[in-house]
Order: sequence, then C-alpha cells, then structure tokens
Amino acid sequence: MIDLTGKVAIVTGAARGLGKGIAKKLGTLGATVVLFDVNKEILDAAVQEFVGSSLNAEAMVVNVADAVAAQSAIEQIIEKHGRLDILVNNAGINRDAMMHKMSDQKWDEVISVNLTGTFNCMRPAVQHMRDRESGRIINISSASWLGNIGQANYAASKAGVVGLTKTAARELGRKNITVNAICPGFIDTDMTRGVPEKVWDLMVSKIPMGRAGQPEDVANCIAFLASEQASYITGEVINVGGGMVL
Ligand code: NAD
Repeated sequence: MIDLTGKVAIVTGAARGLGKGIAKKLGTLGATVVLFDVNKEILDAAVQEFVGSSLNAEAMVVNVADAVAAQSAIEQIIEKHGRLDILVNNAGINRDAMMHKMSDQKWDEVISVNLTGTFNCMRPAVQHMRDRESGRIINISSASWLGNIGQANYAASKAGVVGLTKTAARELGRKNITVNAICPGFIDTDMTRGVPEKVWDLMVSKIPMGRAGQPEDVANCIAFLASEQASYITGEVINVGGGMVL
C-alpha cells in the first residue's frame, strides 16, 4: 500500500490533463500537493475541486519557462512547508510543424517549456533535496522522444528530458534522490483531443491494449515511483502506453 502522508509534492502543469490526474493521485495517497500552472482560471478550478474532495492542495500560478519565477515559487513552498519530497515535471506544450516549415518561435517555445522548464524546476528542488538527502523527481517525457514526424521541437525537448533525467540520476544517487522519466503513449487529454478524429483512430489502432490511456494510468506509475517501494529505481525511462512502443 502506497502511503504519501506527510510528503509535500509539486506537480507542474497541473490544472488539467495528466498533471491534474497525477496531482489528484498523490493527494489521494496523503501528500500535500502544490499545483503549478500558467493558466490561472483552470488552476483555480482544479484546486477548488481538490480541496472540496478534502485533499491537501494549493495552487501557484507559475510559468516554468521563467527560471526566476520557478525558483522563487519552489523556494516559497520549501519555506512554507519546511520540505519538498516529490517534484513531478509535467508541464508541456506542442507546436507541431514539419521541420522545413517550423518557425523559430515554435522551436523556442517548446524547448523553453518542455526542456528548460524541467531544468528550471529541478535546480532549486535539487538544492533542497541534496541537503535533506532525500527526494523523488519524476519527469514527463513522451514516446515521441524517439522521433516523430512533425514534432522536431517536441521530440528534441523530450529526448532532452531523458538526458537530463539520466544525468541527474547519476549526480544524485548518492544523495538518496531518485530521478526517473515517464513516457506516456497516447493519453486522453485536451492536448490529444485536439487531433482530427482520423488521426485519433490511427493512433489508437497502433496501441496493443486497443484504447487511449487515461491520466490515471500514468498517475498510478508516478505514485509508485514517488513511494518508498521504488527507492532503488533511478535513471529509468518507463513507457506507459498500453504497448504503443515496444
Ligand atoms: P495538456 O495540454 O492537457 O495540459 C498541460 C498543462 O500544462 C496545461 O494545464 C497548461 O496550462 C500547462 N502549461 C503549459 N505551459 C506551461 C508553462 N509554461 N508553465 C506551467 N504550466 C504550463 O497536456 P497533457 O496531455 O496533460 O500533457 C501533460 C504532459 O504529458 C506534457 O508534458 C506532455 O508533453 C506529456 N505527454 C502527453 C501525452 C498525451 O498523450 N496526452 C503523451 C506523451 C507525453
């Protein structure tokens, strides 16, 4: 039985989709969850829903691509609660285009949020976790890190997250901090609901389990990685995709 009572967790991009599902799961298992998101409106709605369900939850409007804002927010949480046990770097965007048509803006935006944003949150968290010699970091990469047509920016950012994860695992193992990456396959969220029906059906046809994943499918894996039971697992890249990538 996973018990996260007394733990403090930050989940980025937690106002909807995967991040919301992850935050809800960690909260249900007893953690105090801090939801970071750039979208205040949906963030407020999410945290109200959590508090209404008697979960210990609070929200902060944070753009993870802003290094100063991310550092300040994480330091405030550590100051307030005296600890940070779990960091889930989930905030992510896509701006798809074929490479020959990809603008500088599309490239920069995706790298800034998905890769630099992950680093921006890891650095202040790691400074604290090193001192406490304890911590769990879970980074959300993607099955697309292996390469995907129309996603040069996104795939590069998610491959970068894998490199960052493995480097951090090597640096932090002796400090009793685990760092792992999750690669969701095709999960039913607002991000994927944006694709045309034809593409949705094509994606689902490639999944051996025969369905798109739900945020809870990913959240369950993260809850395990955040738990005491996963204390000897680090530097791993775990697919949660119903067999989409084998
Ligand atoms: P989503 O678009 O539904 O939700 C993303 C959340 O991140 C939103 O609430 C958004 O406001 C927030 N966000 C965006 N930019 C931000 C920023 N700069 N700072 C803080 N918050 C920000 O997406 P999702 O499907 O829930 O995806 C979550 C993560 O999972 C992303 O990293 C995505 O790349 C990854 N992923 C998703 C899938 C999938 O099939 N849905 C597959 C693989 C990987």
